[in-house]
Amino acid sequence: MKSVSMPWASITARFPNLTELSHMNANKLVVAGVRAASISSMAILVAAGCSTMPRAGKSEPRTGDEIVAAGQMFHTGTRVVLWMDSGGYDAYRVERRFAPFNKSDWADTTAEVKTMKSPNRYGMRAAGLTPEQIEKVRGGGWDLPLLQDVVDQFVIHFDVAGTSRTCFQVLQDDRDLSVHFMLDLDGTIYQTLDLKERAWHATTSNDRSIGIEIANIGAYAKPGTNDLLAWYHQDPNGQTTITIPPRFGDGGERIKNFVGHPAHPDLIRGTIQGEDLVQYDFTPQQYDALTKLTASLCKIFPKIKCRYPVDAQGHLIPKKLPAAELKNYEGVLGHYHIQTNKTDPGPAFDWDRVIGGANKILKAESAEFPPRGGEQLTTGQ
Ligand SMILES: [Zn+2]
Repeated sequence: MKSVSMPWASITARFPNLTELSHMNANKLVVAGVRAASISSMAILVAAGCSTMPRAGKSEPRTGDEIVAAGQMFHTGTRVVLWMDSGGYDAYRVERRFAPFNKSDWADTTAEVKTMKSPNRYGMRAAGLTPEQIEKVRGGGWDLPLLQDVVDQFVIHFDVAGTSRTCFQVLQDDRDLSVHFMLDLDGTIYQTLDLKERAWHATTSNDRSIGIEIANIGAYAKPGTNDLLAWYHQDPNGQTTITIPPRFGDGGERIKNFVGHPAHPDLIRGTIQGEDLVQYDFTPQQYDALTKLTASLCKIFPKIKCRYPVDAQGHLIPKKLPAAELKNYEGVLGHYHIQTNKTDPGPAFDWDRVIGGANKILKAESAEFPPRGGEQLTTGQ
């Protein structure tokens, strides 16, 4: 009988076809002769007979492009597999994902993997919260407005694992680390945790950021590096092709028999943290997915500005930001903007393709759905 005490506003919000009734208050209903129709008895009527009311046990279909922030789902327009989906990667689990099942629990894990210190590979975004807010959110009580106030950076990584499956194995089974998203070679995005969680991926920015690990074997000083030779070859047509080494099996790609090609056929050279590096580009499928995810995150989290760190001339800053600049920076950035010992996402990462593309999506959407005068902007829904 919970519906009896349900506020009228939430009833009408859930059942939009009752909008006309919602304009009447209880007094008007009495004047109209519906003497017995108090708000609570109307709720009983609604609960008993409204044909649009969801039936018990009715499934709520997903479109497969949703991400989760503070328990709410948001569309991205690109393929997303959540941690609770079949084939997903669940960073909430204490067990190792790829160890033999009878050796996967925490007791065996700590005995076998000395680097593992914590059964939880994530924490709470506590920095900057008041003691009252900490009491509220511990146990999972984040609401979206509070999360929107805390999250202002989106950190881009390459995984040096080559595929998302191996990436998750390293994070979850070997390293005691986590990240909100992984982006596989075929463009599939995996979300491993609700964005409310403090994932362990970017040291000083963990409290305020969302992170993504993009499948790519990484950047190196020399073109002849073994990892580059193992992961790329020229196919008979002279096209540069990603070859997942046999020890990784099929690589776990969501799209079976996917054959990936870097967006540019040649090694890309560039300088990160003052170091000359070469790297093969990401796949077009990865760029497409990341662009849509970036647009979605910038929409859901207004503090994440859709931009990357640039100097006074408007050029990408290819190294760690000075501490004060990093502290004030709100937007998209690379792991190398946060730490001097990191070079990801590397010289090949095409910032203009992602940020330019995401801004195009946001601009097109705001033209299609312009905010009305005086209307407070709501985000993400
Ligand atoms: Zn990184």
